[in-house]
Amino acid sequence: QSKSEGRNRYSFFVSQMDEAIRLRKVVEDDLRDAIATDQLALHYQPLFSADGQTVVGLEALVRWPHPTQGLIAPDRFIPMAEERGLIIPLGEWVLRRAFTDGKRWPGLRIAVNVSPIQFRHRDFVAKVVDALEETGFDATRLELELTEGVVVEDADAAEAAMMELRALGVHLALDDFGTGYSSLIYLRRFAFDKIKIDRSFLESMEATGESAILVHSIVHLGRALGLTVTAEGVETKEQHRFLQALGCHQLQGFLFSRPIPAAEVDVLLGIAPPDESASAA
Ligand code: C2E
Ligand code: MG
Ligand code: MG
Ligand code: MG
Repeated sequence: QSKSEGRNRYSFFVSQMDEAIRLRKVVEDDLRDAIATDQLALHYQPLFSADGQTVVGLEALVRWPHPTQGLIAPDRFIPMAEERGLIIPLGEWVLRRAFTDGKRWPGLRIAVNVSPIQFRHRDFVAKVVDALEETGFDATRLELELTEGVVVEDADAAEAAMMELRALGVHLALDDFGTGYSSLIYLRRFAFDKIKIDRSFLESMEATGESAILVHSIVHLGRALGLTVTAEGVETKEQHRFLQALGCHQLQGFLFSRPIPAAEVDVLLGIAPPDESASAA
């Protein structure tokens, strides 16, 4: 009995694995094509002022509406794109689309996530400049979200690229702050304008007093260094109250808004009312 049970469980795992491998293969085969044929999409998650009342910026987050697999989240294809060298064309597509969309929302800063592999590519700054020129997007409205992974491998090259970007007027944010190894040293050495406190700190804040102490310290540290401090992953009113009282400058999270398609951003900002004739047709 136990033998056949074991065998059943084994074949269950095998079929699960087959399914995972099959899915991965589908995704791999289709990704190159999806990038080349404009099948990816950007959603935008608003950043709010500390009182939660005003939209102060928008973060572009890539999605893949797959014809058979449904909407695929970036965590499932960005690592694959990095492995297969597709992150370069993908990253360029994201920049161009974000700039084109961003022109509809004057006055707002558009944040774009950059993969370490993309950032370390020697043409990265030139490609940003090209995309800015081609789309006519104002460099001072661009904020690039970098992670520690950007600077760990070749700090000198990263520093040089960052200085070039700053000279163009581009803003630089350190994303997922607090999850890396030596964030404090990076803050002193590299010219960031902003830190985004990783949402794992907020997730555990209610459970442990230590997380609240860490968030408190990060906000004060960031403010003391003259940086804009943003918290990501704000989901509850309690978290909002706590962060506002600490003096966190900007807030982002499901409490205020999920990432939404560009058309919904228009509605949120009151730029274009929903086109009734289009939806009726
Ligand atoms: P990230 O840049 O740290 O983005 C924040 C992620 O947290 C987003 O997930 C967002 O939807 C999610 N989030 C925001 N507020 C909340 C909240 O209140 N609760 C919870 N549970 N989650 C929240 P998403 O869109 O799945 O993106 C995941 C990661 O994929 C991003 O993390 C970023 O590292 C990467 N990514 C997304 N778009 C791009 C892109 O265009 N290029 C590159 N290189 N990476 C990207
Ligand atoms: Mg980000
Ligand atoms: Mg983040
Ligand atoms: Mg993240």
